[in-house]
Amino acid sequence: MSAPTHSGAGVETEAAEPIVELADVAFGYTATPVVEDVSIRIDPGEYVAVVGPNGSGKSTLLKLALGLVRPDEGDARLFGEPAHRFDAGERVGYVAQRAGASDEMPITVREVVKMGRFPHVGFGRLSKRDWEIVDDALATVGMAAFADRRVTRLSGGQRQRAFIARALAGEADLLVLDEPTVGVDAESVEAFYDLLAALNDDGITVVLIEHDLTAVTDHAERVVCLNREVYFDGPTAAFVESDALARAFGTAAGLVGERR
Ligand code: ADP
Repeated sequence: MSAPTHSGAGVETEAAEPIVELADVAFGYTATPVVEDVSIRIDPGEYVAVVGPNGSGKSTLLKLALGLVRPDEGDARLFGEPAHRFDAGERVGYVAQRAGASDEMPITVREVVKMGRFPHVGFGRLSKRDWEIVDDALATVGMAAFADRRVTRLSGGQRQRAFIARALAGEADLLVLDEPTVGVDAESVEAFYDLLAALNDDGITVVLIEHDLTAVTDHAERVVCLNREVYFDGPTAAFVESDALARAFGTAAGLVGERR
């Protein structure tokens, strides 16, 4: 592949290649597939929500897209490269479920965000410009005031913001978030979605797993509804009109509204 050409807006200067491309993918942790027959293409600038019941393969789908697990069948590509071989990690910001909650390292928010610069500077010293980028990222996510606080002493929402700032400092083109608002209070959830919308407006591709379907229909442009296979993939408005959710949730459909 040719060297990735960044522009400030995170858009390729050459003909837009898909950011994520899964073609006829199947994968199982054991002999039983948890994801099957999945073909999905995500283009630069999209804002995609992945929904489906618990255990329906949503996190696995993201791991396949990011090359963290390899398909048993089919093909997974990230920025045009086989996902498992993709090594420009700074282009992707992955905010895992309850990001860093198990991470007991007593480091500060600024130190976490600084890590976003490492792929750009190697293990050399950060330049003045690098520190400006770190501070800009902190400001963008509204965490400047918490820069010197230890990440272990943040609320769930603040911690998510810190990890997003790290992705921004790395100049990521793609933000992948696995249930980013679990355990985050309602007011912070609103602010969090405003932040994601602003980043998406700036050209960053957003892919998230979200169990709060109101948040999905309020914010995402496209919905992928999964239960091992893809039950729906298309514009959010069409998803709302469809019966995909009921089909994907099957008999558990009645639980959807009760889960929060
Ligand atoms: P979701 O994100 O929709 O809740 P997951 O992708 O986490 O679903 O899980 C899909 C299925 O794969 C579930 O049955 C889950 O128990 C199983 N699974 C997930 N991770 C692992 C793992 N590391 N090892 C074995 N099974 C797993």
